[in-house]
Amino acid sequence: MHNENQPLIFEVSKPGRIGYSLTELDVPEVDLDALLPDTFVRKDAPELPEVSELDIMRHYTALSNRNHGVDTGFYPLGSCTMKYNPKINEAVARMAGFANIHPLQAESTVQGAMEVAYDLQEHLSEITGMAEVTLQPAAGAHGEWTALMMIRAFHEANGDTDRTKVLVPDSAHGTNPASATVAGFDTVTVLSDENGLVDIEDLRSKVDSQTAALMLTNPNTLGLFEEHILEMAEIVHGAGGKLYYDGANLNAIMSQARPGDMGFDAVHLNLHKTFTGPHGGGGPGSGPVGVTEELAPYLPKPVLEKHDGVFTFNYDRPQSIGRVKPFYGNFGIYLRAYTYIRSMGPDGLKSVTENAVLNANYMMRRLEPYFDLPYPQHCKHEFVLSGRRQKKLGVRTLDMAKRLLDFGFHPPTVYFPLNVEEGMMIEPTETESKETLDSFIDAMIQIAKEVEENPEIVQEAPHTTVINRLDETKAARKPILRYTPATEEELVKA
Ligand SMILES: *Cc1c(COP(=O)(O)O)cnc(C)c1O
Repeated sequence: MHNENQPLIFEVSKPGRIGYSLTELDVPEVDLDALLPDTFVRKDAPELPEVSELDIMRHYTALSNRNHGVDTGFYPLGSCTMKYNPKINEAVARMAGFANIHPLQAESTVQGAMEVAYDLQEHLSEITGMAEVTLQPAAGAHGEWTALMMIRAFHEANGDTDRTKVLVPDSAHGTNPASATVAGFDTVTVLSDENGLVDIEDLRSKVDSQTAALMLTNPNTLGLFEEHILEMAEIVHGAGGKLYYDGANLNAIMSQARPGDMGFDAVHLNLHKTFTGPHGGGGPGSGPVGVTEELAPYLPKPVLEKHDGVFTFNYDRPQSIGRVKPFYGNFGIYLRAYTYIRSMGPDGLKSVTENAVLNANYMMRRLEPYFDLPYPQHCKHEFVLSGRRQKKLGVRTLDMAKRLLDFGFHPPTVYFPLNVEEGMMIEPTETESKETLDSFIDAMIQIAKEVEENPEIVQEAPHTTVINRLDETKAARKPILRYTPATEEELVKA
């Protein structure tokens, strides 16, 4: 699979070899040396590799083969949802009429693009059960913050300036307390009960006249559906607070239940999770926010509207919290999400949820005999195993995660959530075949057996990857960030 012996670019460099050809210059040449101050002008030519077109192609292809991605293998990274990226999405996002428009073009010339964004808003409000949606936020956490700023604006408009606290269960995603803090609130942690769900009595005791909102991650980070949402809504609304739904992982409930119908006032979605936006390298993402009629006046501006078949950006929104993203967010991700929603249709989206939940439960039950399962009730789209049984035998969850690489699998999320010792958070997603799920399960079972019979093989893993076990301390403290080409001698040996 990995082409380990493919020499990298510096090593195949030969003086004078060229991999490109340029057309003749048809404008006057500029003398850069004359334009730049002396200190900025190089005395010697940079030591760049000189290679042919094939060399450079093979260099980058070899590098890409050293990475694991959804296009190369199973990627059960819980909470981060590396879902499949349909290739039709890419075809649509690259269409010239979309890809070549300029963000400063006149509205009259980009009506088609505005229609896509508007229609996406409409679909997302239908899917979430919310009155209005903004597409502006660029990530899930950005959506959380945007919604909290709207909730704050709402309370302030009502003269309710004392609402300084946001309640966040200890099973929430880590971005929730962070967003609340950045939005200027104090966070109050709500404890979980023995079933891993929000402890209703603890919630009741912490809600008061200073409560601005409760942020609920549902399913929570244990992959469990919060069973007492209507009661929570009653408690929080009863005290004048608002209810926020972290819907990053909507693939757990999509087309089965809607946050709007459960009494939530605001919800964010991650288009780069549930709605097949590719993610990696930190972006671009998209974290749309849906709100009730009551919160709609505070939506970020401009608001995308449709009047008599014409799409316009409305800036005349006096109560708006303002713009949260330049232009209108990450349009390329809207195209992908829109393509996905339209190609799946309502029944397709329903089957996504059914299969995501079925796959997670199938895997959980088959692995249950081999690993500890701290919360044994049915899960939603993901579940959390504990490696504490293996830890007693001297093998850590980290070792098992590394060992999975030898089987060609990306490991699950490890050591998260924090409330599970030696946690392994596994999200199979809806798109994998039963054969893939089974081969991952078989690998996990084999690793559990190795821990008992031959722990060294796990402790020293991975054995088959280009880079073997890293010294993590050294990698953090003394990283080698500069590539040193192999010597002639080393190359001959290889
Ligand atoms: C991923 C995730 C987030 C944060 O989304 P980003 O786009 O990474 O900011 C928030 N909540 C949950 C439950 C998530 O899984």
